[in-house]
This record gives sequence, structure tokens and C-alpha cells, in this order.
Amino acid sequence: MKIAIIGGGIGGAATAHALLRKGFDVTIFEQAPAFGEVGAGVQVTPNAVKALMGLGLGDKLHAAAFYPQAVSGRHWQSGRQNFRIDLGPEFRAHYEAPFIHVHRADLLEILISELPVANCRFGMRCTGVEQTANGARARFADGSYFDADLVIGADGVRSVVRSHIFGEGGLRWTGHQCYRALVPTGGVVDYVAPESSFWMGPKAHVVTYYVKGGQAVNIVAVTEAPEWVAESWSTRASVEDMLRDFDGWHPDLRTLFEGVGETFTWGLFDRDPMERWSQGAVTLLGDACHPMLPFLSQGAAMAIEDAYALAEALAMHGDLGTALAAYEDERRPRTARVQLEARERGRTYHLPTEEEMARRDAEYARRAKDDPRTTGINTDWVYDYDPRDFAREIAA
Ligand SMILES: Cc1cc2nc3c(=O)[nH]c(=O)nc-3n(C[C@H](O)[C@H](O)[C@H](O)COP(=O)(O)OP(=O)(O)OC[C@H]3O[C@@H](n4cnc5c(N)ncnc54)[C@H](O)[C@@H]3O)c2cc1C
Repeated sequence: MKIAIIGGGIGGAATAHALLRKGFDVTIFEQAPAFGEVGAGVQVTPNAVKALMGLGLGDKLHAAAFYPQAVSGRHWQSGRQNFRIDLGPEFRAHYEAPFIHVHRADLLEILISELPVANCRFGMRCTGVEQTANGARARFADGSYFDADLVIGADGVRSVVRSHIFGEGGLRWTGHQCYRALVPTGGVVDYVAPESSFWMGPKAHVVTYYVKGGQAVNIVAVTEAPEWVAESWSTRASVEDMLRDFDGWHPDLRTLFEGVGETFTWGLFDRDPMERWSQGAVTLLGDACHPMLPFLSQGAAMAIEDAYALAEALAMHGDLGTALAAYEDERRPRTARVQLEARERGRTYHLPTEEEMARRDAEYARRAKDDPRTTGINTDWVYDYDPRDFAREIAA
């Protein structure tokens, strides 16, 4: 089967890797002149680690990883811990995988490490897709086109492929914008715990964690805004604005923020879960079909899981329609739940008053007594998933 992938982000690269392993004839079309990722970190949660292990990339991931000790929630001003999920041996044994932090560029590098250059076409901006008698055709801005048995739209939140098969619209401003920054620390410092730390304040939260083996700290600092006014979805912002928006927050955070050299601000958009992702010989993957708030740290994880499942379905089912139906049946319910629960976290992380925060924290404490894995961000059900079960099921 000849397959075209539109988009060489984390989702497209993971898909190319997964499909090449299964022996498909794959070409990836990326609009940028080369593979590249923003200078930021990514939390690779156990479910995504299991998918990467299934793709034979576990060792490479391990080499680039920082292993945090816990996921912890903290009060924005006092630093008081309101939940803690230990990520030690018991956690790893339970989920059969660790929780990892990496730099996005390192993750992308791992995903493309086995991709032959001949399978990658850069500077190719897809302008549309159409069904043909034997498959689908992708058209590009330079006037060229490419015919394939299957075209996969992995072209992100503003997917051209999606709008060509399902129409424009549906993208939703979530009311959140965030600053992203990377602070080189040269090692673990006393003002940043070696954890995935969620600092929760009134109508704002901050997530900090180490990447680059502990050499730098990634910051995602989220505030609320009635609308997104910038022309681009990601623009350079001033460190002064960032410091002003987090005025009065805990001194450790302020110390970290003062080390920020440059920062970018992002508008956060999502969409309601889609009812279908495929039509004829075209399907979608990653943010193209399920853009979500990053509050469960699952966007890249879901794209990697999609890649794994799609490759398994295509390899297992001779008929394209059956394979795409199996792929969607496996992936749509799960990604829909993650999309909707990520929205809900947007509310609970941003409660406006101390009274509401105290009630939330009491609930976190109650849940921690039952099972510490279900407190705080409450992602037990997300991490439990093993994408390799899908392969085992269809093989059986
Ligand atoms: C602040 C923030 C923090 C996050 N943290 C995490 C986290 O900790 N863990 C996690 O799992 N996820 C996280 N995410 C989500 C994650 O970044 C995304 O879900 C993920 O990158 C989606 O990958 P993708 O390949 O589907 O899309 P993208 O990364 O958007 O890649 C799309 C690619 O397609 C290319 N492209 C676009 N249009 C065209 C076209 N017309 N023709 C050709 N090429 C095209 C683009 O250039 C790009 O390379 C976070 C997101 C944000 C905003």
C-alpha cells in the first residue's frame, strides 16, 4: 500500500515510523524546510511510553529522558502541596512503564531516527485532497500532486486535510492562553523540584518540569483571556508581561521566571470530538482530528497512540475500509474522553477563590486516601491504557 502522510510533526513522524516498520511504502510531506519542533518540553506519560516501546523506540527514549519523582499539585502562593502522585518503582510496575520528560526536539529526533531521507519531502504545503478512482490525491502549493492508496492528514490543529474532507469550522477558543519558556539551569536547582509540578492559582496555573536530562526547566504558564487577538497562534511575548501576569506567585516560581530569556505565548484552541475521521481513502490523526487542551499532557501522547493503532489496523486488515473503521473504533472514544476531561481540568485548575480551591483540595485529599493514583490530575484511566492490547486483540 502506498501511503502519503501530510505533516511531519510528532504525529506524522510517529506514523511514518510505525508504517515503515510494517513494510508500507510511505512518503511524508512537510510544509517546513526540515523537521523541527518548538523549543519546549513534553511530558511522555506511561500510555505513550508503552506505544513508543511497541514501536521499538523504548531505549532511545530512555537515553533522552528525565525521570521525575512525582506529579504534584501546589498552592500558587504558599507552595503547599495539595496532591502528590509518586512516580517511583510502584508506579512504574503498576502501569508497566515510566513517566518521562523530554525536550520536544529530542522526541521528534527519536521518531525520525529510522526514517530514510528518501521518504521525506520538505517545503511541500498541502492545499487540498480529493478522492480518486483508486485512492486519494494530495495537492501541493507548488502545483504538484501525489496519488496514494491512502492519504493521512497529520497536519495539526489547522488541518487542511480535515477541512477538505469534513469542511471548515468547529475550532473553539478555550479562553486560555499560555506562555511557554525553557530555562537552562545546568542541573537540578533548589527552587525547582524534580517533579511535574502543577501550581494552581486563581484563574491561572503553571506547570514546571525538567528536560534535557535535568539541564533545563520547561515552563507552561496558563492564564485566561476573553479572546485570542494575535494574528498567529504563537507569538513572541515579553518576559515582563509574564512576570506581571504571575505577580504575587510563590518566590520559587518568580526566581525561575526571572531566568527566562525568551518566551512565546500561545492561544489554546480545541474542538468537540468528531463523529468520523475517515472518508474513502483519506483519514486523520493527532491534532488534525482531536486538538485538546494540554492540561492532561496528552496531545502528543494521543497522536503517538493513533500512529501505533493505525499501523496495526492497516497491517492486520487487507481491506482499507475495514482497517480505517477498526482504527476509528479503537481511537475515537478514548481521544474524545481525553478532549473533554482536559476541558474540565481547565476549570478545576483555575478556580477563582480560595474557598473553592480549599474545597477542591479537600476532594484531592479524600481521593488520595482511596488511591493516590486517582487524585489531582486524576489520570489513572489514561495511563492504564496499553496500545499494544489493540494489536493483540486484532491479531487474536
Ligand atoms: C502548551 C502546550 C503544552 C503541551 N504539552 C504536552 C505534553 O506535555 N504532552 C503531550 O502529549 N502533549 C502536549 N501538548 C500537545 C502536543 O504538543 C500536540 O498535541 C502535538 O504536538 C500534536 O502533534 P501533531 O503531529 O498532531 O500536530 P503538530 O505538532 O501541529 O504537527 C503538524 C505538522 O504538520 C505540518 N503542516 C501543517 N499544515 C500543513 C500543510 N498544509 N502541508 C504540509 N504540512 C503541514 C506542520 O508544519 C507540522 O509540522 C502540548 C501542547 C501545548 C500547546
